[in-house]
Amino acid sequence: MKHKLNDNLTLIYNNYFPKRFQTKTIKQNIIHIGIGGNIGDMEKRFQKLLSIFQQHNLINLIQTSPLLINPAFGYIKQNNFYNAVISISSIYSAKELLKFLLWVEKRFKRVRLFKDGPRTLDLDIIFYNNDKINTKSLKVPHLHWKKRDSVIIPLLFMDRVW
Ligand code: AMP
Repeated sequence: MKHKLNDNLTLIYNNYFPKRFQTKTIKQNIIHIGIGGNIGDMEKRFQKLLSIFQQHNLINLIQTSPLLINPAFGYIKQNNFYNAVISISSIYSAKELLKFLLWVEKRFKRVRLFKDGPRTLDLDIIFYNNDKINTKSLKVPHLHWKKRDSVIIPLLFMDRVW
């Protein structure tokens, strides 16, 4: 089902977005991950991504947001982006999780031709509990989350974030 929010923004509801999963979160870190892309069949790719998370022993899916179709920023002459937010619980540290996410991006043959250019899959750690992380390779909460419709709007559809 599609729901047009305005001329630029459209929500998509399918079997996997939004969805709540049965999960144990006791003594685990709660993490919100932003997912996005604008090449090929994004609904299918996001579904595959969920199954990778589901099969991972150290990751439990909690919830997915609806999908948001929204215009690219930066370099604007490209397809609209599909974005969503996924919440998970995990015993992974933020650094370990980032390593895993970069591996997943690679697995989906992420091509990054240039900054803000088209991409098959982009995975960002938006929140890691309420932690603040500021290392060279990792900034959490994600630096731009407050400025991006692609993060803020999906988050509105999720259970309490903080
Ligand atoms: P980009 O694909 O343009 O979003 O940049 C990816 C790089 O951003 C990664 O290799 C990380 O080292 C770095 N990075 C910094 N903070 C984050 C974050 N919160 N989530 C994901 N990547 C991050």
